[in-house]
Amino acid sequence: MVSNNIPGVLEVITGPMFSGKSEELIRRLKRARIARQRVVCFKPDIDLRYHRTSIASHSSQTHEATTVSSVERLRELLYPQLDDIEVIGVDEVQFFDSAIIPLAVELIALGKRVLMAGLDTTFAGEPFGPVPNLMAIADTVTKLSAVCMVCGAAAIHTQRLGQSQELVVVGAAGLYEARCRTHFRPFLDEHASEQLELVSVLEAPGTT
Ligand code: ADP
Ligand code: MG
Repeated sequence: MVSNNIPGVLEVITGPMFSGKSEELIRRLKRARIARQRVVCFKPDIDLRYHRTSIASHSSQTHEATTVSSVERLRELLYPQLDDIEVIGVDEVQFFDSAIIPLAVELIALGKRVLMAGLDTTFAGEPFGPVPNLMAIADTVTKLSAVCMVCGAAAIHTQRLGQSQELVVVGAAGLYEARCRTHFRPFLDEHASEQLELVSVLEAPGTT
């Protein structure tokens, strides 16, 4: 492993779903390739929405990427080719475990430009996996907003539309939308709201 002794950089691209993280990652990777830099990109295999061999944005832009099951697997695939690589992209980085943090530190020390895109918060509005730590150690953090689907304001939250409380429900269309602070409902529970309506019906004048 040859280190040129010039540190690399970590650029984190974050924000809610639909904020353009993948678009921005793809834009930076494509520009690096125009500059004749050698680029690789990875994504976790939890995100199989589009294709195993590419990352994709909701606006249908794509970039070649390798799907990996873990940080260990990413490391195994990356290190043999690392001398030939200048730029390393990772999309959906929130789905990797905390081992992604020391890997980022190592790659920066080896002079690499590391681009990591991922959700900063869960559907519950809480910090998501390794992303807050990556933001803390990054050279730059680009925090994007989406458009609130209720009012059109800038949206920093990802609203889950179903009842599931599972942390990871990936890719089913119509399951999530972007929301601003005012319209974000972190613990939407349709069953509870039905019960509220039932109570208000029971208590309505003339019904008892
Ligand atoms: P992310 O990776 O952050 O989920 P993408 O890069 O995949 O975002 O997609 C961004 C694109 O999604 C936008 O350019 C736009 O075409 C589309 N889009 C759909 N819904 C919204 C929304 N509510 N706010 C902003 N962009 C949206
Ligand atoms: Mg994306």
